[in-house]
Amino acid sequence: MDGDLRIYRSELLLKLPWLAQGFSTRTGGCSTGPYTTLNLGPATGDLPSRVVANRERFFSFFGLTPEKVRGVKQVHGREIFVVREKGPARTGAGLPAADGLVTALPGVAVATVHADCVPVIIVDPVHRVVAAVHAGWRGTLAGIVFSALKVMGVEYKTDPGECWAAIGPAIGKCCYRVPQERINLFYNQWPDLSGLTPPVDRLDLAGISRDLLRKAGLAGDNIDLAGICTSCRQEEFFSYRRDRGETGRMLSLAVLKERQE
Ligand SMILES: [Zn+2]
Repeated sequence: MDGDLRIYRSELLLKLPWLAQGFSTRTGGCSTGPYTTLNLGPATGDLPSRVVANRERFFSFFGLTPEKVRGVKQVHGREIFVVREKGPARTGAGLPAADGLVTALPGVAVATVHADCVPVIIVDPVHRVVAAVHAGWRGTLAGIVFSALKVMGVEYKTDPGECWAAIGPAIGKCCYRVPQERINLFYNQWPDLSGLTPPVDRLDLAGISRDLLRKAGLAGDNIDLAGICTSCRQEEFFSYRRDRGETGRMLSLAVLKERQE
């Protein structure tokens, strides 16, 4: 197994000593071929035993075992699943269909799966609540970050003005050329987004997530945008678009530490 496990962590969120978070890269795992090496996605053509070993390795970095990590069946929508119980994690077909998870339970990690789509971690430091969101273009357009903040507000009295967020590595504007109709869908909904002044032929999905978090009430200084393109950096990241679908998956993970300071 390659010993070089590299994980991106938000410098901003590292200031919260009671939170652990990170975005995986493709290094440090045992998969081969298009899944070289840290493929964390069960729903790929990779050998399941390798994905299991890779996931255990990644989780162990955070002191977690697989039972402590919650995921969802991602469907490119705006549903948010609330993790209310510490009980055994559902897996496979039992996973709830959603594109984000929220919890206030210490020791229970929330994680989303990515290969170009934007990973967003939202933290409410006042009520100690954390959310992991998968924001592809459909979910972004459907307003999934608003959806997450709304659920946090209803469930935990979260005020977006008090929240912090980290936007991890995702396909950049440099590599995300899309049809004009798709640009128009965003423009029609939010004509004031930065970088959306037509004519353009590319989308900056991570930048749009930042803009939408600000619209929702987060302070600009409380949003950490990685600004790293998964497609450009082939040695470090899987990219669904660059690799034409035959590729591995990264995880975005956040957890409230059990022994809180
Ligand atoms: Zn790029």
